[in-house]
Amino acid sequence: MSNIVAIVGRPNVGKSTLYNRLTETRKAIVDDFSGVTRDRHYGIAEWVGRSFTVIDTGGYVANSEDVFETAIREQVVIAIEEATVILFMVDVTTGITDLDDEIATLLRKGKKPVFIVVNKVDNHALQSDATLFYSLGLGEIYNISSMTGSGTGELLDEMIKCF
Ligand code: GDP
Ligand code: MG
Repeated sequence: MSNIVAIVGRPNVGKSTLYNRLTETRKAIVDDFSGVTRDRHYGIAEWVGRSFTVIDTGGYVANSEDVFETAIREQVVIAIEEATVILFMVDVTTGITDLDDEIATLLRKGKKPVFIVVNKVDNHALQSDATLFYSLGLGEIYNISSMTGSGTGELLDEMIKCF
């Protein structure tokens, strides 16, 4: 049984950018079905010779704020059930939003290992802004830039220890 890494978080934090980086040149295993599966993409990734499945959540097709938040919550609940490890992505440029807080609450109740991935830390000056995310109460934070790939190695090194 393959290890499963689910990337969850609000829209626009950079989940798909990280997913694409991790699964680059590898094909998606499962295509679209319906409902919640339509909002999930599965791909294969590899790090230091260990391969694992990555799930990108959220290509949300909701038309109101309420439905939209429900969809995100639903993805988090599924991730808690099926993932080996959850990457909870947040955005250093926006800080912590209400939805981030809500996702954090759900994840704290779940029993799965969670890595807080602070994305868009594109330069050194933003490193200190990222410390704010310790207040989500989910432990260590991992600063990365999905765009440049900076910080992703350290994250993956820690993550595969959960496999
Ligand atoms: P998703 O909605 O969470 O899947 O987010 P996307 O991966 O679609 O990215 C949302 C936006 O953030 C896009 O315009 C990306 O180019 C941008 N983005 C993603 N990662 C980074 C990053 O590390 N730094 C910066 N500055 N922008 C990023
Ligand atoms: Mg996306």
